[in-house]
Amino acid sequence: MKPPKTIPDYIRTIPDYPHAGILFRDVTPLCADPQGFRLAVDQLTLPFTGQKIDKVIGPEARGFLLGGAVAHQLSAGFAALRKQGKLPPPVIAQSYALEYGEAVVELSEHAITPGDQVLLVDDLIATGGTAEAAVALVERLGGTVSAAAFIVDLPDLGGRKRLEALGVRVHTLVAYE
Ligand code: 5GP
Repeated sequence: MKPPKTIPDYIRTIPDYPHAGILFRDVTPLCADPQGFRLAVDQLTLPFTGQKIDKVIGPEARGFLLGGAVAHQLSAGFAALRKQGKLPPPVIAQSYALEYGEAVVELSEHAITPGDQVLLVDDLIATGGTAEAAVALVERLGGTVSAAAFIVDLPDLGGRKRLEALGVRVHTLVAYE
């Protein structure tokens, strides 16, 4: 009998995407497989079961599908962190550094209620720039990002340490050095 598949069995690695020299970790096959998707959502959720989580925040776009499923499991609400110009007003915006240039993400002012305990969920943490922008926006609306969960950690890029330095507990399922 074959051993059950684990998370890394479902993740594809694509060299030189989206730029030369980048190894892109693709969670599409994991999300497309019924057992794989359940495994990922269950493992992302497990440490937070029974804890006070009012909202899950998920960055566009893979954070929507994973974060939405985790929010449902935790009976929490969901806040969408979107690229600039996608949300109706009122929104708050935060810029953050990319490898070349900068990006802006936005959050609806109605997405977070002051006092909310928030869990950040995304497919992957690299430099932590996206996650740090999410933390800043939640805090500006009076909430607290107490924890974050990602399928993939790229520890060499330092995002996990950057988030932990902000007091965020970080949970990841697989790491690629
Ligand atoms: P960071 O802001 O931590 O540098 O980058 C993380 C964000 O970029 C996440 O929203 C993630 O979806 C996306 N990202 C960066 N590199 C990869 C990758 O190799 N694979 C996937 N699936 N997403 C990536």
